[in-house]
Amino acid sequence: MIDFTLSPELEAIRGRIRTFIREVVRPIEERIDESDRRSLVEGVVEMRTRAREEGLWLPHMPPEWGGMGLGHVELAMVQAEAARSRYGSFAINAQAPDEGNMHTLLHWGTDTQKARYLRPLCEGVMRSCFAMTEPEVAGSDPTLIRTRAYPDGDEWVIDGHKWFISGANGARFAILICRTEDDPEMPKAANTAFIVDLPAEGWNQVREIETWHGPHGHAEIVIDGLRVHGDQMLGGRGQGHMLGQYRLGPARLAHCMRWIAQAETALDMMVDRSLKRFSHGSLLAEKQGIQWMIADSAMDLYQSKLMVLHAAYRIDRGDDFRSEVSMAKHFVANALNRIVDRSVQVHGALGYSKDTPLADLALNARWARFADGADEVHQMRIAERAIAAYRDHGSTAAATGNLPI
Ligand SMILES: Cc1cc2nc3c(=O)[nH]c(=O)nc-3n(C[C@H](O)[C@H](O)[C@H](O)COP(=O)(O)OP(=O)(O)OC[C@H]3O[C@@H](n4cnc5c(N)ncnc54)[C@H](O)[C@@H]3O)c2cc1C
Repeated sequence: MIDFTLSPELEAIRGRIRTFIREVVRPIEERIDESDRRSLVEGVVEMRTRAREEGLWLPHMPPEWGGMGLGHVELAMVQAEAARSRYGSFAINAQAPDEGNMHTLLHWGTDTQKARYLRPLCEGVMRSCFAMTEPEVAGSDPTLIRTRAYPDGDEWVIDGHKWFISGANGARFAILICRTEDDPEMPKAANTAFIVDLPAEGWNQVREIETWHGPHGHAEIVIDGLRVHGDQMLGGRGQGHMLGQYRLGPARLAHCMRWIAQAETALDMMVDRSLKRFSHGSLLAEKQGIQWMIADSAMDLYQSKLMVLHAAYRIDRGDDFRSEVSMAKHFVANALNRIVDRSVQVHGALGYSKDTPLADLALNARWARFADGADEVHQMRIAERAIAAYRDHGSTAAATGNLPI
């Protein structure tokens, strides 16, 4: 039975996060000058100090790692609250890519690796990155990865090329996915993950890629004769693909939780504007064409929330969640783009200006449809599972959430 009622304890956590974002994070954000790195760092440190004092720290990690020990359904609620502000998820140390790397290290790391990398990430004194995508081959198909690691005594020597590595600039370590096997039994068993201490000789950041959203955040890296000790392997040899998939399930859903907050901001703004703007004898809110946009957006958001909560519920129960996470990721990414676009439309010229958060939301929303699995690749996998379910059971029901209707 799925029950969406929050326990009084969780209702209290949600209230505390909401108040924290409104009363602590937002005022600090308003003081941050993003062109000044020092102002940004100081602002984030101040938010984090307050978050720790208030016990709103690491919602996704177990208490023994200093976290709040929430399940994924509970996390959905906390992430969606935190993402109502730009730096909310940083404030509670639950931002990408560190959040996904923490899950990965917790699950795959040795005790030594956990002590050396997971502990400082949890304490917020280190940042990390995850390096998989390459410019020369389709990131959608990790079996094509060319960055190559060769064994050399106790060490591995790595050559290759990565790009769009979020947070690489200033990261203290990378989880790097490389090809290690020439002729694996299965194409998916060709890659291996290594933890690379940064900075490192042979790891050359050649630029920060200028994106729609600005010049910072995502780096291009040329790897040339990088040496890592065999102890730095994360998971087993040939398990890099599995590790990436394990990491991406909850990480994709965490993106959806943040996108829901952004979509809700855009819908709130759309309604607010429509109640204030008057044209051709009535408020925009009274015009059917505008009501359709509001209604379509409300339905998009409702479906997004249900899909995310249900996928999170399946993860918490230990059920197979791959189709549900794929469907949620695809749907929420597209819903976010639709809702933000409608909100821009209702705002007219104001929506196209940088006077409101809509420009920022629109530029950010576009990558949601291809990063962490492009729409078409998720559709391919969803269709494969629907066809397999029909073949195996004479019904597609198992591939549509396995719900009681
Ligand atoms: C803001 C941002 C942050 C990122 N951060 C990271 C990071 O931290 N670390 C990292 O490793 N990577 C990162 N990436 C890269 C991201 O993971 C890749 O963009 C993504 O995996 C897609 O790979 P690609 O760009 O090579 O596109 P491609 O794989 O070349 O795909 C391009 C398009 O081809 C189509 N396509 C591909 N395969 C199929 C198929 N089988 N069927 C039908 N159509 C298909 C889709 O339309 C797809 O959008 C980031 C990207 C962005 C934009």
